[in-house]
Amino acid sequence: MAKTNKYALVTGGSRGIGREICLKLGGCGYHVLVNYKSNAAEAEKTLSGIRAAGGDGEALQFDVASGEESTAAIAAWQKAHEGACIEVVVNNAGIRDDVLMMWMEPQISPPRCPRVIAPSLDGFYNVTRPLLKGMLVNRFGRIVNIVSLSGIKGLPGQANYAAAKGGVIAATKALAQEVAKKGVTVNAIAPGFVRTDMTADIDEAELRKQIPAGRFCEPAEVADLAMFLISEQASYITGEVISINGGLYT
Ligand code: NAP
Repeated sequence: MAKTNKYALVTGGSRGIGREICLKLGGCGYHVLVNYKSNAAEAEKTLSGIRAAGGDGEALQFDVASGEESTAAIAAWQKAHEGACIEVVVNNAGIRDDVLMMWMEPQISPPRCPRVIAPSLDGFYNVTRPLLKGMLVNRFGRIVNIVSLSGIKGLPGQANYAAAKGGVIAATKALAQEVAKKGVTVNAIAPGFVRTDMTADIDEAELRKQIPAGRFCEPAEVADLAMFLISEQASYITGEVISINGGLYT
């Protein structure tokens, strides 16, 4: 395949939803930066999948929750690729650690609330901020934030996770208005239950009775939605939160 000059960064690209988005971006001719926190072997599997589909990319290890790590990794990449612009960023990295608030022990370090909020909310800021200028100068950019049904309606046991995703939803709407004139769109995708490692501990057979579609979502279905938001055809969609939840009431 000819060398591409279109670059995309997907945080948490080593597994689950992020991996599927990486594969589809690679298939569309993007050079994909596959970010991960600790799972190098899974990031390599994502890269192999991209290459098998005729695309290319590279793994980029850093903890999105750390401002220092994110800034250093992105700055090093930019220095090594002078003139290159990462025109797509998918802020997908996230974790959950469900617990009723009355059991959130403050003595655990880091406490269960900031530990869950940081990868999503701080991660959005840490990764997006250093990439914005390039998009604005190029007058084209796509920022897609993976949030959650929980960030819209809240779910019991997820005060931490709902706060993280609700924060990203609000930031999506604010940033969209800052950059719309420069051809940069900022949208959020709010999945319901998706079949990934994150939901491996959930009793799917029981839970799907509550889902009108009668099943969990596949990661590839979320990736298809992300790819539409990234496409030229979605140029006039910005500041939106698009649910993909099989009909679960929001
Ligand atoms: P997953 O299978 O557990 O994968 C999580 C990914 O995030 C991994 O690639 C992981 O990297 C990465 N990651 C976690 N913390 C990170 C950090 N601090 N820095 C960099 N990377 C980090 O999760 P998933 O189900 O695909 O979820 C992806 C996103 O969708 C998350 O934001 C999640 O909240 C959201 N979401 C998921 C569901 C669902 O039902 N699955 C529903 C709604 C929203 P390593 O491999 O290195 O650990």
